[in-house]
Amino acid sequence: MLTRLGFATAALDAKLLTGHALGLDTLALATREQDGVTDADALRVADLLQRRMSGESVARIIGEKEFYGLPFRLSPATLEPRPDTELLVDLALEHLPPGGRLLDLGTGTGCIPIAVLANRPDATGLATDLNPDALAMAQDNAERNGVAERLDFALGSWFEALVGPPPLIPPSPRWGGTEGGVTAGSSPASGDQFHLITSNPPYIASAVVETLAPEVKDFDPRLALDGGADGLAPYRVIAAQSARFLAPGGIVLVEIGYDQGAAVAKLFADHGFADIAVHKDLGGLDRVVLAHHFKD
Ligand code: GLN
Repeated sequence: MLTRLGFATAALDAKLLTGHALGLDTLALATREQDGVTDADALRVADLLQRRMSGESVARIIGEKEFYGLPFRLSPATLEPRPDTELLVDLALEHLPPGGRLLDLGTGTGCIPIAVLANRPDATGLATDLNPDALAMAQDNAERNGVAERLDFALGSWFEALVGPPPLIPPSPRWGGTEGGVTAGSSPASGDQFHLITSNPPYIASAVVETLAPEVKDFDPRLALDGGADGLAPYRVIAAQSARFLAPGGIVLVEIGYDQGAAVAKLFADHGFADIAVHKDLGGLDRVVLAHHFKD
């Protein structure tokens, strides 16, 4: 099983999971080895190793993942934070003005705004998510990382979290229609304006989700992966609606798939954004689109 899935880090994973099952860190684990383990301990270890062999990541099993040097709790409702997304945080830290206010859409674990605010004591933010379980996890992570007093949370799909649901019943479909369900001309209920809007939206084309590695397709929530028929649906909403929520000179930063740079840049250009740049991750792949909105 290990060979078939090709786990490159099998020995390390086994150590981490054994330590977790026994409540020991790596050093304590090395000492404990000489004493042997009880049957109950051995069963706990075997259970965690079995989960790993079924494709669940070490971070999901342990329930925690490090991102931007900070600990984040995970739940089935949240995407596992990826190192690739640290580029977006770097760019956010670079572009957020002093005392700036940040809006993160579809926050999941909250890793983006929490990492930004943890490094910028002058900044405040608002994080949204469609899933109440994800939002609760993000709130918990904000508390763990000491930024809860500067980060607000709002439940809803994209900008609906800020303006409230559309007045008509039934609720708007997830994609299409009014491009996010916010009716034209409605303004933010809170009157909030942001210097920076960030998002790592779902951007995998629906048909491609099934082809992803088991660690991703079986354990990351589909809601956090599936970006509609062409994977671009969330960017259409964000490009169409962001301007209304941005302070003059504000910026949008979105994570993208490696082959989506040109398409996403064009969507923002079509909605009046300028100075659009596609940034590459450490692997040399297109990963983040930055777009400026200039108010007249
Ligand atoms: N980067 C993730 C992956 O490749 C996708 C995350 C997303 O859709 N936002 O699985």
